[in-house]
Amino acid sequence: MTVAIETRSGACTHAGLKRSVNEDSYLASSPLFLVADGMGGHDAGDLASSAVVGEFAKYVGADALELDDVEAAMAASRAAVDAIDSEERAAGTTLTGVAVADVSGEAYWLVVNVGDSRTYRLYDGTIERLTVDHSVVQELVDHGVLDSTAAKVDHRRNVITRAIGAGNEGVPDYWMVPARTGDRILVCSDGLTGEIDDEDIAEILLAEDDPQEASVRLVSEAVVHGGRDNITAVVVDAVAVSGESVNADTDTSARSHTSEHASSGGSRIGGTR
Ligand code: MG
Repeated sequence: MTVAIETRSGACTHAGLKRSVNEDSYLASSPLFLVADGMGGHDAGDLASSAVVGEFAKYVGADALELDDVEAAMAASRAAVDAIDSEERAAGTTLTGVAVADVSGEAYWLVVNVGDSRTYRLYDGTIERLTVDHSVVQELVDHGVLDSTAAKVDHRRNVITRAIGAGNEGVPDYWMVPARTGDRILVCSDGLTGEIDDEDIAEILLAEDDPQEASVRLVSEAVVHGGRDNITAVVVDAVAVSGESVNADTDTSARSHTSEHASSGGSRIGGTR
């Protein structure tokens, strides 16, 4: 069996300028590209995010994963975070990113999200947010109470409604997004999106061909803009996609049904409650 998506990736993380500890963790090793943003008293957040990444790391090296694998890693992650002894605020973490998946020979990004870290895709020069934040401000935006400009400065912007641990069930959202050669995925913590907007993120992703250089520049830019939180960026490129008989750049008609699907964020496969 060959890998479903041949990838190249880069990753960068930084504590930022205001926090002494970096509680973000990431995994950037095929088939998993994930970011976890930990929270809790003392070093509980750090322990939570690294515990989750550690559970998923057991799947590194697989050609592709199935939803069952990701669900199993999620269950193990919840147990690992719940086992962390925290005297103050219970340990918890967000989790977002992609797993390379293969469904009957077609390659997909299996997108997962719990909390307010984000996964984006850049394709053909356009950036698209693949995940929906589990946060109070996102709910207010959804209900028309806040617009996106007001949401950015709202004092509740750091309050999340789902997490792994922290007394939450940690129910994830999943999406299956058909992969195309030329896709660039960005997985990041809110320390990035809290400092620079989507347009500036897209500009950097377009300017830097090398994924490692792109991740470093994104994080540097967030530091320059204030670095008020821990910042993590994982950038992964689809170099080749199995089952893609013709180059997607030259033959869009062959895959138009799938790209149409993808433009609306892919097909959602449950997880809401
Ligand atoms: Mg954060």
